[in-house]
Amino acid sequence: MPLVLPAALAFLLQLPYNYTMSARILDGAALAQTIRTELHPRVAALAAKRGRPPGLGIVLVGDNPASEVYVRNKLRAAAELGIRADLERLPATATIDDTLELVRRLNGSPVHDGILVQSPLPAAMGAEAAQRVFDAIDSAKDVDGFSAENVGRLVQKRDGPVACTPRGILELLDRYGIPVSGARAVIIGRSDIVGKPMALLLLHRDATVTICHTKTRGLEAVAASADLLIVAIGRPAFVTTGFVRPGATVIDVGMNTVTDPVLARSILAGQPARLERFESRGSILTGDVHPEVAGVAGALTPVPGGVGPMTIAMLLASTVRAAEGEWQARRH
Ligand code: NAP
Repeated sequence: MPLVLPAALAFLLQLPYNYTMSARILDGAALAQTIRTELHPRVAALAAKRGRPPGLGIVLVGDNPASEVYVRNKLRAAAELGIRADLERLPATATIDDTLELVRRLNGSPVHDGILVQSPLPAAMGAEAAQRVFDAIDSAKDVDGFSAENVGRLVQKRDGPVACTPRGILELLDRYGIPVSGARAVIIGRSDIVGKPMALLLLHRDATVTICHTKTRGLEAVAASADLLIVAIGRPAFVTTGFVRPGATVIDVGMNTVTDPVLARSILAGQPARLERFESRGSILTGDVHPEVAGVAGALTPVPGGVGPMTIAMLLASTVRAAEGEWQARRH
């Protein structure tokens, strides 16, 4: 049943006052705050018991501007929760051996319970570099869950660290009471960090899962069959109303910086406040889902403020679990 937003909510969502929408907005930012509050006593208990806080080592190679922003956000979130987070930088000229050596040092560090290597690694390291580096991380410290061992554990439905973005999406669905068991789930995107682990998590929760990609025939119709549509492709506002069954839950993973004024104006036509911001800044962050989908979907994650904050909350949760020895104990 479409509704007209109250002015205060419209302001928060940066939508016009009379924007017609039916979707329930899944507020990842608020939920991430709740999760951080829940983690706080566990962090304090660990610090009291061991005489040091949980520790996270973040490896950043090179100077990719987007990675700088992601890493800064992770460092800030960890510090706010009382987790020790150390940024270990290597220059863009570093070799894969330099990176592996740094990872091995963190593996042996008594103050780092979790390790993450920010991707992408510099292209000069070669296509296989990222997986080689992920595989070198001690599997009990692999808080991103990208190592072959932890991906294997996920395939076999065994406990272990799981990629933070899909884990955060599942948490969001659960906490909003959106049913997964028996749901027809369609995932657009088959990356190792989002699409594939998302498919496995949903499968293990008894969803009927379809994974789509660039070679999928009849993509729009496949997507429109979903009760639960998860979009992780990196194409601004690609998914329009025709992809969405009325009432479906739509999870927008995309984080795209749009600088093209023609594209920005077409995406933000119904959102004057955001368009104004674009006109003054020259860029805007958009998802893979067009804002018009809010008029059709039953529930929708906003960008920003949806999946992104949940990803970081799950990273913090994984670091706390690693510090609690959760995965050390189950390794053998
Ligand atoms: P990726 O590795 O670039 O993979 C993109 C996937 O989308 C590929 O499987 C590709 O298919 C598919 N795809 C691309 N265009 C398509 C199209 N027109 N039709 C159907 N499928 C298409 O992407 P990623 O790393 O998963 O990231 C996806 C998006 O999510 C990006 O915007 C990224 O910034 C964002 N992201 C956000 C978070 C967060 O925390 N919010 C975390 C991770 C990623 P093929 O395999 O056939 O090429």
